This record gives sequence, C-alpha cells and structure tokens, in this order.
Amino acid sequence: MPRNVLIVDELATNRIVLKVKLSGARYGVLQAASLSEARKLIARDAPDLILASADLAGRSSARIVQALRGPASAPEPPIVLVFSQDDPDGRLDALRAGANDVMTKPLDDSHFLARLRSLLRQHHSDQALGMHADTAVALGFGERPAAFHGPGRIAIVAQPATAAMQLRADLMHRTGHEMAILTFDAPEALSDLVPPPDVVVLRIGAADRELGLRFMADLRADATTQNCRILAVLCPEVRAMAGTVLDMGAHDIICGTADTRELALRLQNQMRHKRDEDNQRAKLKTGLQAAVTDPLTGLYNRRYAMTHLSRTLAQAATSGQPIAVMVADLDHFKQINDRFGHAAGDAVLRRVADIMRNTLRDDDLVARIGGEEFLIALPDTPRDRAKRVAGRLCHCVRETPFVLDGHGAPVHVTLSIGVAQVEATSLQAGADAETLIARADRALYGAKAGGRDTVSFCATRPAA
Ligand code: GH3
Ligand code: MG
Ligand code: MG
Repeated sequence: MPRNVLIVDELATNRIVLKVKLSGARYGVLQAASLSEARKLIARDAPDLILASADLAGRSSARIVQALRGPASAPEPPIVLVFSQDDPDGRLDALRAGANDVMTKPLDDSHFLARLRSLLRQHHSDQALGMHADTAVALGFGERPAAFHGPGRIAIVAQPATAAMQLRADLMHRTGHEMAILTFDAPEALSDLVPPPDVVVLRIGAADRELGLRFMADLRADATTQNCRILAVLCPEVRAMAGTVLDMGAHDIICGTADTRELALRLQNQMRHKRDEDNQRAKLKTGLQAAVTDPLTGLYNRRYAMTHLSRTLAQAATSGQPIAVMVADLDHFKQINDRFGHAAGDAVLRRVADIMRNTLRDDDLVARIGGEEFLIALPDTPRDRAKRVAGRLCHCVRETPFVLDGHGAPVHVTLSIGVAQVEATSLQAGADAETLIARADRALYGAKAGGRDTVSFCATRPAA
C-alpha cells in the first residue's frame, strides 16, 4: 500500500525538492503551505508521516509540532521537523514537544529515506499492535493495565570502556534511568540482563563497524531482546552507515558529535515509546485472556474449549494416543439456587471449578461450557485412567462440604459425568469435537437416568 507523506513548507521550491525525493521513493505526496492548510489535510487524508519545515510563519519549532499534533487520536503519524540551518536549541524544543525526529539541511538522501522507512515501519507496527490490543479488549472486556512509572532500564554498548562510562555518566544524570554497560565482544551479557533492557544505546565507532552491525542483528533476532528499543549513536567516521543501521532496525539514530542534551531527549522518547508498547502488549494479553475465560470460575470458556479440543484431536490423530472427552453436570443444581439464592449457587460453581483444577493435570482441558456444565478433555488417556479420573471428580465433589455465607450447615452437591472414550484408531476415522461432545452428552443422560452422582461411558468402537 503506498504511504502518504505530508510536506508542510511555505516555499514552493522547497516542497518541490522534497516531492521529487519522495516520489522517487514511491511515496504519495500531499502538500501544505501553512499550518492551517496542513491541519485540514491531516483531518481529511490522514497522512502516514508529516515532514514539516521548522521555518513556518515565525513560529517556534515546539509550536509547530504542537499545532501539527492536534487533538489526541493515538497512534498519530510521526512528525519530522526539517531545519534549514543548524539550530541546536530549536532541535531540542521540537524533540521535547514530541517530534519523532529533527533533521538539518542539507539532507543526505540515503539517511533521510532510511529514516522515513524506519518511522513508517514503527508507526505501522504501533497501529497494528493498538488495533489488536483494542480488539482483544473488546472481545474479552479486558481492563487497561496501569501505566508503569519507575526508572527505566538502559544498556549502553560502547567501546572503549572510557566512552561507555562517559555516556553513562551523561545519560544517567539527565534521565535518572538504571544503566548497565556492555561491550560488543560479549553480546551474551545482554541475555544475562533480567528483565531485558527497555532501550539499548549502541555507540558505533570506526573500530566496531562489523561488531556493531552483528550486535544489532543478534539483538533483533533474540526472543528476549527483540522488543528492546535501539538508539544508535554513530561516530562521525561511520555516519555513512546510518541508512544501514536504520534499515536493520534501529529505532532512532544520532550521527556525528552528539549533543548530550539531544541524546538524553531522544533516549526519553524511546523510553516513552517502549512503555506505550509494553502497555499495549499487556492490554492485548489481558484482553485475550479475558476473551477465552469464564469470568465466574476463571476456567476456559466454550469458545476456547472447542478450538483447543479440535487441536488436541488433530494432534492425537498424528501421535496415535487415546483421548477421553467428558461432560460433567451438577445434579439438581436448580434446587441450590432455589433454596440458597443465586449468589450461593455462584459460590458452589466457583468451588467446583477449583476442585476440577486441583484434580486434573496441567495438560488436561477443563472449561465451563454452560450454566452448571463443564467440558473436560484428557489427552493421552486410556479408558481405565478416564474412569479413575471421572470417579475421583465425583468423589471429591460429593465429599466436599460447601459452606455458604449466611447458611449454617454445609451443603452437599453431587456431579454426574458422561464420557466419550476415543481410541486412536477411531480418531483417524474422523472424530470431531462436536461429535465427541454429543456422545459424551448422551452418556451424561445415561448417568442422570441411572440415579446421578455417577459416571457413564459411551465408548466409541474402533474403526477397524
Ligand atoms: P439435573 O440434575 O438434571 O442436571 O438438574 P439441574 O437442576 O442441575 O438442571 P437444570 O438444567 O434444571 O437447572 C440448571 C440450573 O443451573 C438452572 C440455573 O438457574 C442454574 N444456573 C445456570 N447458570 C448459573 C450461574 O451462572 N449461576 C447460578 N447460580 N446458577 C446458574
Ligand atoms: Mg444439572
Ligand atoms: Mg445442565
């Protein structure tokens, strides 16, 4: 999908120069000659990135960024401010106001385009993560996790040791984060940092071109560090590597003689971004968990159980292991509600769920699939084990005194279980989750008809 970049510059000649660069790289281009025109285009066309001149109607760089940000509608397109001449304070103000990057003319084409690619990639992944997290929350009513505010964890990778110490001293005093020092020749030390750092500051000099790139590649490939943000600091002799370093996954880069104030601000921006991402990931996890969980008992719900059972059956068909599928239903449960109230009924359901969790193995599945009805699937389980497990479940429920709030004597409850026992040979003949549950249900009717508080089997005959 072509990405659209909005150019904001009062001078038509400047816009044309940028447009040529961008069109050559196959970006769609929108143009605005003023902030008010830019705001209209942002609202109407939702550009993917904004490239604004820092010389607009005599406004300060911070005011320009604020005007382009507009009302919050996260995640917003990245903003890059382009300065026509060196202006260290203006750069700092823009970064502080939330610009994603600042650049000073003349723009080096390869660095410039690599930076746009990197910002667009990040923006795209922020949008995707945000979408997934919001969907998960919508599906499962997951709650937004609380924001985290302690000091961040930074790893500084630089050589020689004096350069690393200097960087640490500068950044620690400006940011207050925890800083560990690592060297390129011992990349394994990074995996020893637990939890992994939020941001890795990677300083690459002339002597560590190769090592620096390899270190970055390892960092991105390793599962424990792939979510770390990378801030690359390139010494003047290696500034030509900027495009490569960005394309390899650096999230931000600073070239040449670094102003430590600017470095500290860029570090803070990366830290803020990392925390946003962590929050989105946590939201996704909580939301997904809620989407597959029954809120009353904390057991899996029917949606999860059906998918999981189908997968377990497919696996068993390959491995040749037998499976037992059970439907368990509390006996005369309506009477519990009628005599003690709905809240007491809920408490019984929760307690029964605990009994099931404690009686079954970790790889067994237990889900609440109806009001007082549970689905249990035991992988790699022959008939005699299924019989023992079902018998134990009935026994535990029968023997548990349910103490209900506001009611003196404990209540006793019983459970009936129907089992569909499947041998591996019949799995290959195509037993699906729905069919097995229907068979277990039929067996359950048998258990109810047989007096309740008992286990009944509906054995499937092997196909051969
Ligand atoms: P049987 O032995 O034949 O299974 O009888 P039963 O009373 O258990 O079965 P029936 O299907 O007649 O009633 C089930 C009851 O479960 C009715 C309903 O009020 C209750 N129930 C369903 N969901 C919940 C729930 O989430 N909380 C509570 N407290 N009760 C529930
Ligand atoms: Mg019942
Ligand atoms: Mg029932």
